[in-house]
Formats: sequence, structure tokens, C-alpha cells
Amino acid sequence: MRTVNSEKAISDVEQKCADRGIRLTRRRKEVLRTLVLAESALSAYEIAEQCNADSNDPMPAMSVYRILDFLRDQQFVHRLETANKYISCSHLSCGHDHAQSQFLICNECRKVEEIDFSSEAFSVMEKAASAAGFSSISPQLEVRGLCDSCEIN
Ligand SMILES: [Zn+2]
Ligand SMILES: [Zn+2]
Ligand SMILES: [Zn+2]
Repeated sequence: MRTVNSEKAISDVEQKCADRGIRLTRRRKEVLRTLVLAESALSAYEIAEQCNADSNDPMPAMSVYRILDFLRDQQFVHRLETANKYISCSHLSCGHDHAQSQFLICNECRKVEEIDFSSEAFSVMEKAASAAGFSSISPQLEVRGLCDSCEIN
């Protein structure tokens, strides 16, 4: 269960949009709310399905992708590259600058935690990668494991 207060998170995002001079349209808000309320990461298809479930004005998949791009640009949502799924940012109500996020993904319940490894940790990885002949490595790590509640069971 996510403990986030979804209406507070949405109104904080509305405030951020106003500060940035952009609009959180009805559909953008709908997509964001779906992700804030979701208990695990959702694919674009699942998001469209949930948004359209009780709507007589269904959103085409293309608009869902466009909205997700917009929300990602603003760092209100993130995409898990390995799973090709989306989650809402855990810092929607925060005032600080967004750090480079890393993600912990539970293998059992699919719960996702957004964390911020130190930038030193990333530069260690970058050095190791460069020694192996790799450059421009993605700073987004997606680490799999078991969350606390799954480990107990
Ligand atoms: Zn975030
Ligand atoms: Zn924060
Ligand atoms: Zn778990």
C-alpha cells in the first residue's frame, strides 16, 4: 500500500506547474492520479485501461504516451527502462531539486522504491565502465531484490 496522500500530491503538482508556467490539464491529471494511486509500476497500456475504465471519452494510446512524456520531462513520473513501466515520483510534494533517481524493485510484490545513491557511487561505476570500454552509461539504476515485507514471508 502506498501511504501517499494522493489529493495533496496532485495539488502540490498543480502548484509546481503554475510556478513553471505549464498546465496540468484534466487528462494529464488523470494519468498522474492513476500512477499516484497505483501500488506497483504500470505499463502505458494499463494506465490507458484504468483511465478509460469509467470514461465515456476514452483516451487514445497516443495521448497517453504524449502525456507520459510530458510528466516525465517534469519529473512527476519515471519510467523503469527494464520493465517499460511507469511510476509516480516519490517527491511530488517536495520542494528540493530532483536528484538522479535509482530504483529498487521487489521481485516478489513488484513494489518500487525511488532512492538516491550518492553521486560518488555513480562515478565509481562510471570509472569501472570506462575501464571496460563503455561510455555514456545510463545514470538510472534499477536494482532488483526483496522488500522487507516479502523477505519476512
Ligand atoms: Zn522522482
Ligand atoms: Zn523529496
Ligand atoms: Zn515485496
